[in-house]
Amino acid sequence: MSEAELPVLDIATEGTGKRFIECVQCPGERWHSVIVRATIKTEVENAFSEDGYEVVRCDGCMSVSFYERSSVGTAGEPSIVLKEVLHPPRRDRNARKMNDGSRRLPEQVGTIYAETILALNNGMSLLAGMGIRALVESVCKHKRIKGRNLKERIDGLADAGILGSTEAKHLHRLRFLGNKAAHEMKQPSRLELSSGLDVADHLLMTAYLLAEKAKRLPSRGR
Ligand SMILES: [Zn+2]
Repeated sequence: MSEAELPVLDIATEGTGKRFIECVQCPGERWHSVIVRATIKTEVENAFSEDGYEVVRCDGCMSVSFYERSSVGTAGEPSIVLKEVLHPPRRDRNARKMNDGSRRLPEQVGTIYAETILALNNGMSLLAGMGIRALVESVCKHKRIKGRNLKERIDGLADAGILGSTEAKHLHRLRFLGNKAAHEMKQPSRLELSSGLDVADHLLMTAYLLAEKAKRLPSRGR
């Protein structure tokens, strides 16, 4: 190996520039100042590969994170970026968020809810489908709704006045989603799961969170 082929490490701490990247804290992309950059460059004849490691700080919220980039190129040509990585990983914008009131749900219901969202956000659609069904089952169990099967128990939720009849109809459709996952082992689509969770969210709101909010309203005056 000739001397020119040895990797060269360069560390820069001043005037290292700016990067417009997604912030770990602020929503969306923000200007970041590069605090330290370590570059490892290997040259073979007129081709090179370069790995850059940067400690970056958001100009808005001052959060510090890490940016890594690998590129290759030939002299006189623009380099080709092979990978760009941010640490810690930025949150997926399409990730499903938990309902605001989820911390006030009964423990078992809340656990199933959190795990279902975790499964959905990590692409585990079969488990997410089963989770949505388990969520409905857990509400029925907690509200002591009896019935030989989930269909009867959903009707029971409506009979007990926990749900309106239209809402019960939506929940029946969730049954099919859960059956598809649990019995047919078919992965529901992301859209099906997302709509399913909308309906489940609505059930949680009606069954637990709305009543609590209503308590805070003044009762009708005499
Ligand atoms: Zn920021």
